[in-house]
Amino acid sequence: MSNCVFCKIVAGQIPSTRVYEDDLVLAFMDIGQVNPGHVLVAAKPHVENVYALDDAQAAAVALACTRVARAIRAAFAPAGLSVYQANGAPAGQTVFHYHVHLVPRHDGDGMAFTWPVNNPPRAQLEAHAAKIRAALA
Ligand SMILES: [Zn+2]
Repeated sequence: MSNCVFCKIVAGQIPSTRVYEDDLVLAFMDIGQVNPGHVLVAAKPHVENVYALDDAQAAAVALACTRVARAIRAAFAPAGLSVYQANGAPAGQTVFHYHVHLVPRHDGDGMAFTWPVNNPPRAQLEAHAAKIRAALA
């Protein structure tokens, strides 16, 4: 079994607050919240970085990011949204399983964020996830 934390989340071996899921993609909220409504969109298969995605995975991640981004906007009305990914340690990648961060941004937020960030209680994550899931419907 892989030691990859995201593979364990995909497999349900680590509990997660799920926002969206299909055959190729899982969107969840549990790895640090830069701002409320921050969602991570991960490829379900263990794919290290953007270069290793096949076309179907790339399309599925892009579509999921777009749909979830719209739902974050509907649920949280942020002033902006950062769509962020890191590929390779020099680019800031710390979990080597491909994922994209969707980070709601508000006026006055700095562009930089550092890890670890806020990890709110699961009940708060579930409340935020429910708002996004409702906006996805
Ligand atoms: Zn993995």
